[in-house]
Amino acid sequence: MAKLRFTALEELLNRETKKVEGTRIPTSDYFGELVFDRPKMKKYLSKEAFEHVIEAVEKGTRIDRRMADQIALGMKAWAMENGATHYTHWFHPLTDGTAEKHDAFLTFGEFGSMVESFSGSLLVQQEPDASSFPSGGIRNTFEARGYTAWDVSSPAFIVGSTLCIPTIFVSYTGHALDYKFPLLKALHAVDKAAVEVCQYFDKNVTRVISNLGWEQEYFLVDEALFQSRPDLVLTGRTLMGHSSAKDQQLDDHYFSSIPERVIAFMEEFEIEAYRLGIPVKTRHNEVAPNQFEVAPIFEETNLANDHNQLVMDVMKRVARKHKFRVLFHEKPFKGINGSGKHNNWSLSTNTGVNLLSPGKNPKSNLQFLTFLVNVLKAVHDNQDILLGSIMSAGNSHRLGANEAPPSIISVFLGSQISAMLDELETRVPDKKMTPDEKTALKLDIGKIPEILLDNTDRNRTSPFAFTGNRFEFRAVGSSANCASAMIALNTAVANQLKVFKTEVDILIDKGAKKDEAIFQVIKEYITHSKNIRFDGDGYSEEWVKEAAKRGLINVSNVPEALKAYLSDKAKKLFSENGVFTEVELEARTEVELEKYTKKIQIEARVLGDLALNHIVPTAVRYMNTLIENVQGLKDIFGKESDYQELASDRLDLIKKISNHIQNIKNKTNDMVEARKVANKIDDMEKKAEMYDQKVRPYLEDIRYHIDKLELTVDNGIWPLPKYRELLFAR
Ligand code: ADP
Ligand code: MG
Repeated sequence: MAKLRFTALEELLNRETKKVEGTRIPTSDYFGELVFDRPKMKKYLSKEAFEHVIEAVEKGTRIDRRMADQIALGMKAWAMENGATHYTHWFHPLTDGTAEKHDAFLTFGEFGSMVESFSGSLLVQQEPDASSFPSGGIRNTFEARGYTAWDVSSPAFIVGSTLCIPTIFVSYTGHALDYKFPLLKALHAVDKAAVEVCQYFDKNVTRVISNLGWEQEYFLVDEALFQSRPDLVLTGRTLMGHSSAKDQQLDDHYFSSIPERVIAFMEEFEIEAYRLGIPVKTRHNEVAPNQFEVAPIFEETNLANDHNQLVMDVMKRVARKHKFRVLFHEKPFKGINGSGKHNNWSLSTNTGVNLLSPGKNPKSNLQFLTFLVNVLKAVHDNQDILLGSIMSAGNSHRLGANEAPPSIISVFLGSQISAMLDELETRVPDKKMTPDEKTALKLDIGKIPEILLDNTDRNRTSPFAFTGNRFEFRAVGSSANCASAMIALNTAVANQLKVFKTEVDILIDKGAKKDEAIFQVIKEYITHSKNIRFDGDGYSEEWVKEAAKRGLINVSNVPEALKAYLSDKAKKLFSENGVFTEVELEARTEVELEKYTKKIQIEARVLGDLALNHIVPTAVRYMNTLIENVQGLKDIFGKESDYQELASDRLDLIKKISNHIQNIKNKTNDMVEARKVANKIDDMEKKAEMYDQKVRPYLEDIRYHIDKLELTVDNGIWPLPKYRELLFAR
C-alpha cells in the first residue's frame, strides 16, 4: 500500500513525535528521500540495469530498449511506494519556469481490470503536444511535434503524487527547444576542452566538471496585499507606487533577524527542498525590506540548474500556504534594490582539483593561472554574448542602477591577483626563457596561496568577480533560468581553452618547452584582455567614461543586447563548439525578442487599465470632494475674494490633480496608439525595437503622474496598497 502523503512539515512533525520531545529530526535522515538516486537505483534495479544507467550517466552511452523497460519498472515501484500515481517528463521550455504534463500510471489490464504500468519507451521519450511552446519558428505547422527525451544525468524525483523525469525538449528535426539540451552540450564542450588543457599538468585528468552555486534572491509579499495589486498579479512587478518614506536607507534589513512568519515559510520550503535532494544551506535577509536570499551548496551545473528551477517552484507553492507570495521578478519595486541570482561558477577535475583555486605548489599554480587567464580572455572576447545571455525585460531594470549588473561587463580580480598578472606581463620575456627565469617565475606563482588568504575585499559592484576559488557571475536575473548564462559562459571558456591549446602546441612544435610555451601564451592573453579588468566602483560615472575609453561595450537596450547572438562571431562560437546551430541561434533570439515584446505589451496594457479604471476615477472623486469644499466655502463666504483666499491651496490642488489626470489620459492614449503601430510590424527585431523605443518610455511617464497623485489623493480612497504596506507587512 502506498502511504498517504502529508505536507512535508506535517510528515516531519509526525515522525518527530516519535523522537525525544523538543528535538528536530536531523536533515541527513531524510535528505533526498524523494529522489531516485544511486542508492535507490541500486536497491530497485537489477545489477545489470543499475550498471547500464551508471554507464549512461558517466560516459554518455545510450540506454537500450530492454534495459529501459527494466529501469522503468524499478522506478515505478519506488515511485508508487512513495505515493506517486502519475508520472511526467519535466523540462525547461523557453518560457519562464518548467513544464510538465501528468499521466497516470493506469492502463487497462486483462478482463477490463486496471493496472499500473510504466514502460521503458515512456521513460525514455515522449511527444507532448508542444505546439504552444515558443520555438522561434523552428516548428512550422507541418512539424508542430516536439519530443522530450530523458536526461539520465539528473535523477528523477517525486513532487506530490507525480514522478518527475528530467528531460530535454527538442523539435522533430532535432533542434533544441529548451534550455537543458544546449546546456548539456556546453558542459560537454567545456569538459572536453578543459581535459585537453589539464593534460599539460596532470595525465590523470579525464573529466572536468562545471560547477554552479546559485544565490537566489526574492521578495515576499503578503497574499492579500498581492491580490489587491493587479500589476503584481499580472506582471510580477509594481507598475506604480510612490516610494515609502522609509525603505532601505538605514540598511536595517540586511542580515537582520528573520521575522517569525518568514522563518516558518523558509523552514518548510527547506524541508521540501531537502527531501528533493536540494542542498540549500544559506538563508538571510537581503538589502531591501521583505527581500531575502537562499543559496545551496554548489553542485554540477546541470543538476544545480534543475535544482534551482525546482526550488523556485517549491517556494512558490509553500509561500501560498503561509499566505505569502514570492516574487522572483528582478525589480518588483522601484527605487529599492532588485533581485539577482548570482551564479558562482568553477571547474573541477575528476581528480578532485578545483581549477580556479590556487594550488599548493608551483605546478598546480601554473594550472590555476592558465585557467584564470583563459576565463579572463573568454569574458573579454565575449562580453556581448555574456551580456546578451542575462538580458531580459525584468533584468533590464537592474542594469545601470546601483546593482551588480551594469550594461558593461568587467571582471574583478582583486588587487593582489591583478598585481600578479601585471608582474607576469612584464617579467615573461618575449625571447626564449632561460631555465633560471622559468624556475624563478614558477616559484613566484607558488606564492599565490598566501596572497589570496588576505584578499578579502570582494567587489560587490562587479558583474563578474573572482572570489578566491570561483567566479561569480552576478549579472544574472533572479527569475532567469541559469542555463542561459551558463551556456554562454561554458561555451566561451570551452572555445577559449581550445584556442589556447592550439597556440601552446604551435610553440611547442617550434621547439619551446611546455612551461615556456604556456607562459608565453598566458602573457599575450594578459595583455590582450587587460581592458576587461576593473577593480574599482562599477556603479560610478567615472567607470562609464573609462569603459568607453577602453572600448568596452555598454548596452542597456534589451533588443540590441539580445542581437549579439546573431553576429557572425556568435554563430561561429556556438556552432563550432556544438552548442547551437545557426538555425537554433536565430530561433532562440527570436523567442527572446518576442518574450521581451510581449512583456512590455502586457505591462503597457495593465498600466493602461489601472490608470484609467483605478487611478483616474479615484482622482476625480477626490477632486470632486475638493470642489464641493470650495463650493461650500463660496456659499458661506459669498464674496469671490474671501473664499478664493481661504481656499487657495485647494484651488491649486484641483488644478494640479486635473493636470495629472489629463496627462495620464493623454499619455495612455498615445501609448495605445504606439502599440497599434508596433503591432503591425511583422519583423520581430523591428517590433521589439519599436516596443523598446516607442512604447516602453510611456510606462515611466504615466507612472510619474500616478505616483504624484498617490501623494495628494485622500489615503482613504486610494485603490491600491502602497509601498509602505507591500514592503513592511510580514
Ligand atoms: P556570498 O558571500 O557571495 O553571499 P555564499 O557563501 O552565500 O556567498 O554563496 C556562495 C555560493 O557559491 C554557494 O552556493 C556556494 O556553494 C558556492 N560556491 C562556493 N565555492 C564554489 C566553487 N568552487 N564553485 C562554484 N560555486 C561555489
Ligand atoms: Mg555571492
